[in-house]
Amino acid sequence: MKNIPLLFLFCFLLSCQSDKKSNEFDINATIEAMSLEEKIDFIGGYESFNIRGYEQYGIPEIHIADGPVGVRNFGPSTAYPASIALAAAWDKKVAGRVGASIGAESRAKNVHLLLGPGMNIYRMPVCGRNFEYLGEDPYLAGSIAASYIKSMQEEGVMANAKHYVANNQEFNRHHCSSDMDERTLHEIYLPAFKMAVEEGEVASVMTAYNLINGVHASEHDYLNNEVLKGDWAFDGFIVSDWVSTYDGLACAKGGLDLEMPSGKMMSKENLIPAIESGVLQEEQIDDKLRRILGQYKRFGFFQNPDLRKNYVLDSSAVRLAALDAARGGMVLLKNDSGVLPISKEEIKSIAVIGPNAEPLVSGGGGSSGVQPLHPKSLLKAIQEEVGESVEINYEKGIFTGLPFPEDVFDHFDFYIKEDGQRKTGVNAVYFAGKNLEGEPIHRQFFEKIALVDEQMWGFESVPETNYSIAFDCYFSPKTSGYYTIGMSGDDGYRLKVDGIEQVDMWRDQGDTRSKYSSFMNAGQEYAIRLEYYQSGGEARLRMGIVASEMDKEPKQYTENAMALAKNADLVVLSVGFGPGTEGEAFDRSFELPYDQGDFIRSIAEVNKNIVVVLNAGGNVDMNTWIDEVPALLMAWYPGQEGNIAAAEILFGKTNPSGKLPVSFEYELKDNPCFNSYYDEDEDLSVFYSEGIFMGYRYWDKVASKPRFDFGYGLSYSSFRYSDLEVDKMSFSQGDSIRLSLSIENIGGPAGAEVIQLYVEDDVSSVERPVKELKAFDKVFLQAGEKKTVEFVLDPQSFMFYDEASHGWRAESGTFTIHAASSSTDIRESITIELK
Ligand code: BGC
Repeated sequence: MKNIPLLFLFCFLLSCQSDKKSNEFDINATIEAMSLEEKIDFIGGYESFNIRGYEQYGIPEIHIADGPVGVRNFGPSTAYPASIALAAAWDKKVAGRVGASIGAESRAKNVHLLLGPGMNIYRMPVCGRNFEYLGEDPYLAGSIAASYIKSMQEEGVMANAKHYVANNQEFNRHHCSSDMDERTLHEIYLPAFKMAVEEGEVASVMTAYNLINGVHASEHDYLNNEVLKGDWAFDGFIVSDWVSTYDGLACAKGGLDLEMPSGKMMSKENLIPAIESGVLQEEQIDDKLRRILGQYKRFGFFQNPDLRKNYVLDSSAVRLAALDAARGGMVLLKNDSGVLPISKEEIKSIAVIGPNAEPLVSGGGGSSGVQPLHPKSLLKAIQEEVGESVEINYEKGIFTGLPFPEDVFDHFDFYIKEDGQRKTGVNAVYFAGKNLEGEPIHRQFFEKIALVDEQMWGFESVPETNYSIAFDCYFSPKTSGYYTIGMSGDDGYRLKVDGIEQVDMWRDQGDTRSKYSSFMNAGQEYAIRLEYYQSGGEARLRMGIVASEMDKEPKQYTENAMALAKNADLVVLSVGFGPGTEGEAFDRSFELPYDQGDFIRSIAEVNKNIVVVLNAGGNVDMNTWIDEVPALLMAWYPGQEGNIAAAEILFGKTNPSGKLPVSFEYELKDNPCFNSYYDEDEDLSVFYSEGIFMGYRYWDKVASKPRFDFGYGLSYSSFRYSDLEVDKMSFSQGDSIRLSLSIENIGGPAGAEVIQLYVEDDVSSVERPVKELKAFDKVFLQAGEKKTVEFVLDPQSFMFYDEASHGWRAESGTFTIHAASSSTDIRESITIELK
């Protein structure tokens, strides 16, 4: 004990010294000392996830890792619930704990910049990356993001708000322009980023892949220079998404500060002539360095470049943050006749059925995919929750294809035919452009397809990018049985077997794997064609084949599950999407994959006591099955600890408290974006014709209700709202308003209620949404407990974006404030006047 004051003094002195070192780092003098070549090298990443260091100038090397649901790079890490679940928790404290925990784990891995939060707005349920984002409402998304960012950055790790902006779909994401009017851009798609900058003080922002109103995000002068760096006074740096730069000069002038993963476009070859000819100023490059180095200084990286030094990670705290986020974010959507919580006294046997019950489905696919440190499946979590008291049996129920064989790339048993002889290998024919068209530009024999960068393009006539290849070979099995062809490619590829397309991954993407499994007959010769194109960035392609064991015929899966369900007291059906069916670089279906809708009906035919636990990043087609099941728990993607939370909710140990951060429509065509989502006419532009009337703003406008409305979620308790009061009945421009409200848990166990405050402009000169979310709080109450909660509505809460003046303003008149339990469940209202 007695050493503590001394130790404290030592640390204090050390930190003063280090602060001095950091404060002393003279950014301007360093930039002055650097050559133009060094500066340009600095603003292009290297080794995919680093910013280069310059020892001679005392600039440390900076490491980057993917988020937003855990530290994706450098080995396994805690996998947190999907971001949409974090939004569904409506809990800034939990968002802060998750941000801090991911920050802490980044630190332990010496990661200085974590690529999260993801904060694009949810327009349509089919967007492949909704699960990485924070829902349909800009205020909710911005609030959750700002808390996450602040706490992460307090851990000494730079956060990154991505993808700026309007990356609201995954199809053709490099080429399709998200087009909208100025008001829609400012009222719906920009505010969350604004909050990340102004409230979260985020260190960096990542540009989107898409174009906005015809201009690539990475070179968007208006959005980057005028809005972000100008109007919002963002003093951090703008980083490109990986391989989303198309014109180095336009990026350099358009506000991009750091090109990732390498300085391919903002290169010396492209920028030095521009500077020499005066089209670009060296000062513009200096500003980029000043911004990046300015953040290094803010985060103390000059003094302490090794974040791991003397740092001990509190692993139990980060796991608890992941668990609490899942506890708070799961949304109970349906609970007829009190099926939930399950009574261990009454229910003696449970059939756990479904493809998502075992193994864990932690998240969706793509760059956010964390390899979980402690994976726990729903089946395992339920078994642990009930112990010996209830009999648990499991059936997968659906054939979802054979698992991806991890060793498949070690087996290249394909051949070509040469002079009537078989020779192991493959023939490749190269074409200029991405469509295998025109005269071949090169022919090559490869012994196998395990090709990386130069191995693929290092031939005289082949360019580094923008080419396509057709690989042809044969396969002939010695014994009959199931075989799996495994492939992985960056960018697009597709597989044809005997001329019939079996796998279509024909899209721009990072290294993404897929497989094709089929029964093949001994001695039969199968013609195998793999087609590939390269669209910039890294070039990779792999293929292999192995025999696969089928344990039973596909229809047997469902028959077994039905037999199990028939004899159980209750069925927990674990269904939904997963990394192969919902993820980055592709959009998903509205219908559940693998005919799971029909499957749920089949199970309901033999047992009506069903609880569906659903994994998805948003709404799915429920029309064929929702009426057949009494209970539905929206589990989103739960992360590694989340199935514990699901089991606790099923058995009543945790009272559900999540609420939908999006509106759940009955049918896809009910969504106001339905006719303006896909690029139907293929003109590489999608006009957001719904404007600001998206999500609940649309449902309010048409005075109708979706299946489950924004802000909706059931609890095992009931809450009474009362005494909504305001500090002044009339207020002036620029004033903030204080409100108070009483909330009481009037029935059921301890639990939490999300109180939502919506502001309605009673009379306006322009058409405004009926009401907009402007404040919320999650309040925990013991059984019978009553609390008074306070809210502040700032001047922004009353404003709309005025296209005429290109700015925000509020009009005098009356406003009604609604305190609501969901967007259609208003409990208290009060009207005040803006003078
Ligand atoms: C994704 C980003 C990600 C980056 C680096 C891109 O494909 O869009 O969200 O941070 O890759 O992995």
